[in-house]
Amino acid sequence: MIDTGVPSEDFMDKVFEDVLEEDGTLYASHIMVNHLEDLSYSQRLRSLVSIFNYKKRLKSLRGRMFYKTIHEDTDKAIEDALKTYTKTEKVSCRRGCSHCCYMFVDVFPHEAVALANKVKKGQYYNKEEFELQKDKTTPQEYVDDPRPCIFLKEGECSVYADRPMTCRKYFVVNDSPDLCEIIPGESNQVQNPLMYEAEVIYSAVAQVAESHDPMGMAHMVDRALKGEFKDGK
Ligand code: SF4
Ligand code: SF4
Repeated sequence: MIDTGVPSEDFMDKVFEDVLEEDGTLYASHIMVNHLEDLSYSQRLRSLVSIFNYKKRLKSLRGRMFYKTIHEDTDKAIEDALKTYTKTEKVSCRRGCSHCCYMFVDVFPHEAVALANKVKKGQYYNKEEFELQKDKTTPQEYVDDPRPCIFLKEGECSVYADRPMTCRKYFVVNDSPDLCEIIPGESNQVQNPLMYEAEVIYSAVAQVAESHDPMGMAHMVDRALKGEFKDGK
């Protein structure tokens, strides 16, 4: 049959059933949801199909392969996006710049399991901050009281290869990295380039992860250390 590029109604029914919640909403990162609002109907459908296809890829992956693959795919997607993006915009992010490591970082169960396993093997983490933050579960708590990530060591990420998707896909194109500093009571506008493919991957992972609500770093690592997640999905 000739592929006209127009998905059949049956196929789209399957996509809607698989990708959308019962009330018709999309479970995805807020960046993805905001982005979809600006798209035409057919572009939105294409995005849902992309999420559906990536979920199919995830079904064949287990345990360590699952989290390794999504991190590799996210890195590749970002590398490609940056090639295009940096032609017109200047990305401010650089090594040793860490204001963004004082924000709420949402972590999926399989990512928390991998980080908890590293902690069990002696990985550095800031124990004082861990105790302070392990019961924090909402972004607002970090807006009111920005805290350093438990894996931030002397201004650098000590788990760089295993950092969560949220850290991997976060970039800004400010004039100055100082605009990223969170000062309670003040609001700075930072500009985040859209990493579309990475948002597709994130949305698919969010839908298959054991916990639908990824919470803060210390909180998720604490739960993983207590054995609350099996293999994270
Ligand atoms: S997001 Fe902001 S603070 Fe983080 S590395 Fe980029 S410029 Fe620096
Ligand atoms: S995991 Fe690394 S990059 Fe992510 S917030 Fe923590 S220190 Fe920063």
